[in-house]
Amino acid sequence: MAKHALLSASGAHRWLECTPSALLELQFPQSTSEYAEEGTAAHELCELTARYFLGEVSEMDFENRRDELAKGHYYNAEMQECANDYARFVTEKTKAAQESCEDAFTELEVRVDFSKYVKDGFGTGDCIIVADKVLEIVDFKYGKGVRVEATGNPQMRLYALGALLKYNTLFDIDSVRMTIFQPRLSGVQSSDEITVKELLEWAEKYVKPRAKLAYKGEGEFAPSEEVCKFCRAKAQCKARADKNLKLFDEAPDAMLLTPEEAGAILEKAADIQAWLTDLEGLVSSTLLSGQPVTGWKMVEGRSNRKFADELKVVEAMKSAGYDESLLYERKLITLTQMEKDFGKKAVAETLGELIVKPQGKPTLAPAKDKRPEFKPEEQLLAEFDK
Ligand code: SF4
Repeated sequence: MAKHALLSASGAHRWLECTPSALLELQFPQSTSEYAEEGTAAHELCELTARYFLGEVSEMDFENRRDELAKGHYYNAEMQECANDYARFVTEKTKAAQESCEDAFTELEVRVDFSKYVKDGFGTGDCIIVADKVLEIVDFKYGKGVRVEATGNPQMRLYALGALLKYNTLFDIDSVRMTIFQPRLSGVQSSDEITVKELLEWAEKYVKPRAKLAYKGEGEFAPSEEVCKFCRAKAQCKARADKNLKLFDEAPDAMLLTPEEAGAILEKAADIQAWLTDLEGLVSSTLLSGQPVTGWKMVEGRSNRKFADELKVVEAMKSAGYDESLLYERKLITLTQMEKDFGKKAVAETLGELIVKPQGKPTLAPAKDKRPEFKPEEQLLAEFDK
């Protein structure tokens, strides 16, 4: 079983902000999800493909091992395409580094140790390109639900720190570039660069003291939508509950809320909806395990009728005189399924302009959201110009 660090790089955005969270989380089991398993499968394929592109494994070895991975539940053409894109990206970066520094080299799946600043802190970097001047870290993300930004990302910075500590005696490194490669989000790459001086200062002045608190479970709880999202204690955490319950202590004095006041409430209450869902999960799982929760019970949910046996249904309808052709409909598979089966690029090349993206419905988002603002007046002008 993989060993997990108490203060891991992947959880750094949480324990750096909310230092008591790391110890509190130990009371709850690590769980996995389909997305996490899919991500692990994609990472294995990426590593293998990148090793092949870099000339570290022979074609025969690559094909044999890829065929093994292809037997897995999550493997598909889209995943291979993403692995190829990643491998190409890493190879190009390696070549570029070797052009300016002939000793430059690339390491994949590298264990990096940042325990000098974070007790027992280590992690695994997907790809590190070691060269004079700029050390480069590339992190592959297979998810497409949330765009991950490299700028100010503490996970990337801790990898950068570990990589710097590992290689700075061999190379003359001035700065570290950190890139997130997220191919399923239209090939999004997000990069950030930090000088060695800034990185070491961040590690010494910010990370080190907070890691000390986190290791002992001390410091202030810091509940917020982003910080609590993946915390294993999120349903039972009292600090989060207290914060959400206190939000409405001060009622606005006017009889009617203004849109400004409604906006301010929504902003303050960003975590409420997720928190209530987490509470529902906690109460449901308690009841399902046989323990009572006052005021609540489980009931049977809605269900739709369905055929018990499709072959027997067809036979029965045919025997009753219905034409078999009337019993089936021909339906095109979805674009997402097509891309999984045949690869995103192959589908885009074949279909070209037959793939369209209708404009999304205007959706409310906080002002800090990265998407451009929807302007109704521009929309009207565009309609007018048609
Ligand atoms: S739920 Fe939020 S506030 Fe509570 S420990 Fe986890 S991160 Fe901290």
